[in-house]
Amino acid sequence: MTPRPIVVSGMRPTGRLHLGHLHGALANWVRLQEENDCFFFSADWHALTTSYDRTEVIKTSEREMFVDFVAAGIDPHKATLFVQSQVKQHAELFLLLGMITPLGWLERSPSYKEMRENITDRDLALYGFLGYPVLMTADIILYKATRVPVGADQVSHLELCREIVRRFAFHYGEVFPEPQPLLTQAAKILGTDGRKMSKSYGNTIDLGESAESTRTKIMGAVTDPARKRRQDPGNPEVCGIGHLHKVTSDAETNAWVDQGCRSAGIGCVDCKKRLLEKLLPAQEQMRARREALLARPRDVDDIVELGTRKAREAAERTMVQVRQAMKIG
Ligand code: SF4
Repeated sequence: MTPRPIVVSGMRPTGRLHLGHLHGALANWVRLQEENDCFFFSADWHALTTSYDRTEVIKTSEREMFVDFVAAGIDPHKATLFVQSQVKQHAELFLLLGMITPLGWLERSPSYKEMRENITDRDLALYGFLGYPVLMTADIILYKATRVPVGADQVSHLELCREIVRRFAFHYGEVFPEPQPLLTQAAKILGTDGRKMSKSYGNTIDLGESAESTRTKIMGAVTDPARKRRQDPGNPEVCGIGHLHKVTSDAETNAWVDQGCRSAGIGCVDCKKRLLEKLLPAQEQMRARREALLARPRDVDDIVELGTRKAREAAERTMVQVRQAMKIG
């Protein structure tokens, strides 16, 4: 029997998950778990690279994040859920890969440059932050991942990981497969202010947020700025409500939005009300699943403990090969 592809992906536990996480990553993970051996983890060490001064939020967010994973449809019988920092082999492999990764590769990394420019409220001239792609590489190859879900804008990050794999093979022989990018069409979800949905912008709609709060946020959300007056035509492609219709409403409703928005046949208030018809029941379902899981914290802990044990075993099998290949076993 051909082995199933191995997929690894993680998320930083830095607060409640929102609709951007659901449609940008989680919905895709739910599909992937059907045909791949999936490892989905809480990237708590990664969270430290930028949240080193707010560490208290990491552990408090973690259980809620796993609850959100399961409530969104990740099945712990199909996918392995674990905590990065509880599998110490990540740190060991990170250290070993650090010995062979040229500094120039890290300094040239587009995400390093971009984040240094965008995050200005704290000092990021740090060794841990610069080395973050090496830790990311360790996370991926520790499980011999063959496929990594990435958006088109993240392919370059994975290329760095593949370069490190090739360099390891050059020095010590082939232990790791080169992971291939699994290009995913992540849905674009805008926040209520028209910018990318992000907790740091305070523009999110959380998973399972109450009906009242979801309604208030949607009715107050920014739409296509071209629609200043009711008779101005708009474009659902540039509107956060239009994006949410795409992932929430059926084809008939989306055709109604597209035609009505572009011809100014419908107003934004009608459009938002129609979105709420589908969004509120979906939020209610999510809220009920979350609450049922939160009422059984021991079950959630068991899922994560079991997954972490499984991940640790897989990681150790790889590390035995790594130490042998490097002749340091
Ligand atoms: S009609 Fe709908 S899609 Fe068009 S701008 Fe208004 S809210 Fe957005």
